[in-house]
Amino acid sequence: MREFEADVVVVGGGAAGLAAAITAAEKGAQVMVLEKANTTGGCANMAMGLLGVETKLQKERLIDITRERAFEKFMDYTHWRSDAKLVKKYIDQSAETIEWLQAMGVDFALPSKYFPGSEATWHIIMPKTGNPGLRAAATMIKAMTERAEELGVKILLETPVKSLIKDQGEIIGVQASDKDGELEVYAGAVVVSTGGFGDSPEFIKKYTPYEWGKDLYSYRIPGLTGDGIQMAWDAGAGRDYMDMELVFFAPNTGGYAPIELPFRQPNLFVNLDGKRFYNEQVVENPVFSVNAITRQKNRVAFSIIDDKTMKKYEENGLDLINVVTSSMDMSYFNQEMEEAIKNGSDVFFMAETIEELAEKTGIDQEGLAETLKNYNEACKAGGDKEFNKNPRYMVPLDGSKYYALKFAPSAYGSLGGIRINDKTQVITDQFAVIPGLFAAGTDANSVCNPDYVFVLPGNTLGFAVNSGRMAGRNAVAYIKSLS
Ligand SMILES: Cc1cc2nc3c(=O)[nH]c(=O)nc-3n(C[C@H](O)[C@H](O)[C@H](O)COP(=O)(O)OP(=O)(O)OC[C@H]3O[C@@H](n4cnc5c(N)ncnc54)[C@H](O)[C@@H]3O)c2cc1C
Repeated sequence: MREFEADVVVVGGGAAGLAAAITAAEKGAQVMVLEKANTTGGCANMAMGLLGVETKLQKERLIDITRERAFEKFMDYTHWRSDAKLVKKYIDQSAETIEWLQAMGVDFALPSKYFPGSEATWHIIMPKTGNPGLRAAATMIKAMTERAEELGVKILLETPVKSLIKDQGEIIGVQASDKDGELEVYAGAVVVSTGGFGDSPEFIKKYTPYEWGKDLYSYRIPGLTGDGIQMAWDAGAGRDYMDMELVFFAPNTGGYAPIELPFRQPNLFVNLDGKRFYNEQVVENPVFSVNAITRQKNRVAFSIIDDKTMKKYEENGLDLINVVTSSMDMSYFNQEMEEAIKNGSDVFFMAETIEELAEKTGIDQEGLAETLKNYNEACKAGGDKEFNKNPRYMVPLDGSKYYALKFAPSAYGSLGGIRINDKTQVITDQFAVIPGLFAAGTDANSVCNPDYVFVLPGNTLGFAVNSGRMAGRNAVAYIKSLS
């Protein structure tokens, strides 16, 4: 058995783990990061940006979100289910974190809203070449990895941690393995940040209301299998709120393909009974929409448009766009629909009559016909008595062709698992601190509770980086308190 020593050992070199490692190293600690994958960054390599409140970038652009308003919004949104002290610290630190990242060479595009009703807190990372988009945060991960190495942090890749070493109630290290066999790292403090359980159908089935592949089609970033949560529980950590970080996608399409965008518009959405179930304007908020879809039979819903609406989109662009789904060119649509259907897609549908659409999708035919009749009448009368949808979006479906896309719950990953306090110390179910053990990022994200706080976008990456920094700082303070 090989043995190593460090002041702080970090389990998982993703957004939270790197933030913890850099922060501890900046305070003079000898730090080791043990990373399961062959690269750093985990899920963060897929992300676009993180939350910042009262940043210089916002002030320069007259974006007037304040810490007070962000805190109030956060707590209102979560109905005070989140740890208010932790949320306050996170929001208050977030502007300084953006500058901290800028100082290590991370550039940001404009702070953005995700949708009109949200705040412009999303600090999207500017890639070194090209435009910002999905995976932009990989550039941040590269800069963080380089900064960690510059500070002398030892990053061991392909070194999954198996368990924590506990001695007389204190956490004093970790057991791991690499291609050469088993190893142990002894340390003054351990930070667990393994990114949650998004790649574990077993965890998902056991700890959330969903079953992967049956009523959930979430991203599965390889290796995010709940390891850190399990090892912390095994060491006595309490269990906190756990769920998926839900959004809605068509099963197995990846979610943002341009062909899907016309279906993410405030047109007609129905469930398997053919009934409307929400004000489709809400489609711009992925969390509210998935919550509504999750309540429907088999947790599915269909967005239906006709060729008249498609023609309008081709000529004038979509009704709603956001930074992620900003394509306005719809000229490809018919051809791509035909190709998807020819290739046997079970989520895209095309039909010439409502009866044919019902048969192909499995939607109840009578229910759909009745809904369509009522909806078209309401559109002509200019008002939606069912859900008060803005008359502007009440467009009848009376063309000669119908298109539909089936949506179901998806998720960026998981939320929560390890119980921590506002100092990122891991605590038991009885709230006793486990000395030497800290947790950050998704493994400990019970602040986005009961779901991603999309009104303040950038919230999970924001929590990961900020809680990571807190954990790094608190781990060093703990070690100093020992000596
Ligand atoms: C497509 C997509 C887009 C997203 N966009 C955004 C966005 O724009 N804004 C936002 O706020 N959030 C976004 N997110 C979510 C965001 O990426 C996560 O919240 C964030 O990466 C969490 O950071 P983390 O450090 O907790 O986990 P990760 O970044 O996933 O890091 C965890 C690390 O731990 C490692 N690990 C796992 N097990 C072990 C083990 N046993 N031993 C050692 N290492 C281990 C993993 O390999 C990984 O490198 C997005 C997610 C996806 C999938």
